[in-house]
Amino acid sequence: MRKKIVAGNWKMNLTLAQGEQLINDILQTGLKLKEGQEVVVATPFPYLLKAKALLKNNPGFYLASQNVASEKSGAYTGEVSAEMLKSVGVDYVIIGHSERREYFQESNAALAKKIDQTLANGLKPIFCCGEPLEIRKAETQNDYVAKQLEESLYHLTVEQLKDVVIAYEPIWAIGTGLTASAAQAQDMHAFIRSQIAAKYGREAALHMSILYGGSAKPSNAEELFSCPDVDGGLIGGASLVAADFTAIIQKLA
Ligand code: PEP
Repeated sequence: MRKKIVAGNWKMNLTLAQGEQLINDILQTGLKLKEGQEVVVATPFPYLLKAKALLKNNPGFYLASQNVASEKSGAYTGEVSAEMLKSVGVDYVIIGHSERREYFQESNAALAKKIDQTLANGLKPIFCCGEPLEIRKAETQNDYVAKQLEESLYHLTVEQLKDVVIAYEPIWAIGTGLTASAAQAQDMHAFIRSQIAAKYGREAALHMSILYGGSAKPSNAEELFSCPDVDGGLIGGASLVAADFTAIIQKLA
């Protein structure tokens, strides 16, 4: 059985005190996760250590960073290595979020290096892919996403791929209030799974958790999560409100 995951991406929001409050509020709801379900919280770098301490004794709750350096160590001012993230208790790393691709010019090739650093340090990548609006309008989104997968993931062995989670995030749906319909999400998730199967075999494809991201909220999460190839969500805005985030987690099938 593949894991069902709801991951919250705080982006560049909240002070440390607000972040602590949010995690405490989420934990205090007494949310009980079912077997195979995971909740991941992706905080800004300076809060990771504190967040780990808060999440630590809560089975099924994991910590993520929102980025990682593509290099191992050395003279890269301002960067944070995978080894550093591991040393403060990080479990997952979001890699290739569309905001990083767009505002920080992260290429598919650079993301492949980040994936390698992440896996080499025993961390799990949440690899984001997804098309901009003009590609969706031209109906070439499958080719676009296939290329992202090929250029950032397909150098991995089947063994390495077991630790990778994919998040499909159509850029036109991120932070816009526009959500992909359940049918659009299911179509793309099934396509991604078929691509993984073609490259790595059916077992690997069936094992792969593929999350949906893009204006997911309590009111649409149930429909999205009930799609057979949607294994949870990567949540931006709604992960900043404890009641919304926990309501979304409760919609996991
Ligand atoms: C995201 O940034 O990964 C995201 C899905 O954001 P939102 O939920 O706010 O659209």
